[in-house]
Amino acid sequence: MAFCRSSLLLRNARGAALRFSCSSRMEGSLTCSDRRRWYSTSEGTTMTASGYHVSSGPSHMKGAVFWETNKPVTFEDFEMPRPKANEVLVKTKACGVCHSDLHVMKGEIPFPTPCVVGHEITGEVVEHGPLSDSKIIERFPVGSQVVGAFIMPCGSCFFCSKARILSYDGQDDLCESFFAHNRAKGTLYDGETRLFLRGSGKPVYMYSMGGLAEYCVVPAHGLTCLPNTLPYTESAVLGCAVFTAYGAMAHAAQVRPGDSVAVIGIGGVGSRSHLPGLKVGRLLIESVKIPYNVNLETYLIRKLVLVGGPLLSYCLIKVAIQIDPICCLQIAKAFGASDIIAVDVQEEKLQKAKMFGATHAINSRKEDAVAKIKEITGGRGVDVAVEALGRPQTFSQCVQSVQDGGKAVMIGLTLSGSKGEVDINHLVRKQIKVIGSYGGRARQDLPKLVKLAEKGTFNLQAAVSRKYKFEEVEEAYKNLDQGSIVGRGVVEIM
Ligand SMILES: [Zn+2]
Ligand SMILES: [Zn+2]
Repeated sequence: MAFCRSSLLLRNARGAALRFSCSSRMEGSLTCSDRRRWYSTSEGTTMTASGYHVSSGPSHMKGAVFWETNKPVTFEDFEMPRPKANEVLVKTKACGVCHSDLHVMKGEIPFPTPCVVGHEITGEVVEHGPLSDSKIIERFPVGSQVVGAFIMPCGSCFFCSKARILSYDGQDDLCESFFAHNRAKGTLYDGETRLFLRGSGKPVYMYSMGGLAEYCVVPAHGLTCLPNTLPYTESAVLGCAVFTAYGAMAHAAQVRPGDSVAVIGIGGVGSRSHLPGLKVGRLLIESVKIPYNVNLETYLIRKLVLVGGPLLSYCLIKVAIQIDPICCLQIAKAFGASDIIAVDVQEEKLQKAKMFGATHAINSRKEDAVAKIKEITGGRGVDVAVEALGRPQTFSQCVQSVQDGGKAVMIGLTLSGSKGEVDINHLVRKQIKVIGSYGGRARQDLPKLVKLAEKGTFNLQAAVSRKYKFEEVEEAYKNLDQGSIVGRGVVEIM
């Protein structure tokens, strides 16, 4: 479905992208300096990167539009999106298929519609917004290969500019503009979307950058350069799955060498005590007529509000394969954690967890996860426990699994309004820290993640288990919802 630009300048720029890798901020450079050198020499001129703004090219593109729950995604023609100041137009190469999109599509997390979901992208820079900062244009010249973080910091709000004392790039993960405009209203930071249907001009909202389209507009602070040694498809997972796990382990948990870490919910979790409930839950399901077009889990979670009790156990046991927890294991290992404990209900997933760095695996269908974690850690509990499912029961398990003074880190999103309970006296007396974590800090973390991927710290190839064509977006989310994607699914939009 993708179409090609025929501009000579662009083809030259693309050639440059193939020849040179990008320097990253980890090395103290803010620019793709190798590419800039090529621009100035190969053209025999002193043309700067800003001279490569695309003024001609296609005037429209295709995008996958989500209209409403239980309606299939449709492919629509859009006017070519136009970036504004300090925004970049990216020709999307790949976009990961993530549970957060699914939460929106299932109506579990409110979001304006129609919208384009997809927030885990790689692609090629094709245009800068007018009046963009020259440093941004120099850092991402047209033709650069980039990866985008799902939290796209504005760079100027209280949190983005705060905490320069603590970290030179602020707390990008709390960017006020991102939450107030993008997550709340589906727009970028001037309060407007960049997506309009061709012909009617109807606005279409953006979940992050709206990655499931042939082109997307990304605030430049949400991007980093992708070296040519890393493939577009597999590297897409750096922008959410790996980014989320890194935020949890580096900032929330601050894992140190020798720490013990438990990750609860590699692919769905429960415990022996839930099994009777599971049986009852199944019996109830058999006796209840569920509309064929309604997702089972959504139905059960909603029903739970009315029925309560046993159905919850079924929801808990539901297997949803998530890649973020697997990334947590890899990052814990990279940080030098000693005991790395994976908790799950499926042997297959536990075996996979061992391949990704777990030193112990607990099947919580067969064993009491909290008791077993205590047994492994000499009765104390772990330094850090991560909860990846967003369920009230696993929230409690996570808190109970940490030792005195330990950190219980929550990364699993769930139905809007869900509550988790905690024993207040235990929390107070034992100095338990319950910490929420949404993602990493784009400007400081994403370049580090690219470096770690280059070194092979993350096995990106193994993380991506399924590739889809652009036309197969609907099938990709169906597969994700059914739990049939073992690692991460990525849509290739070339
Ligand atoms: Zn995601
Ligand atoms: Zn901000």
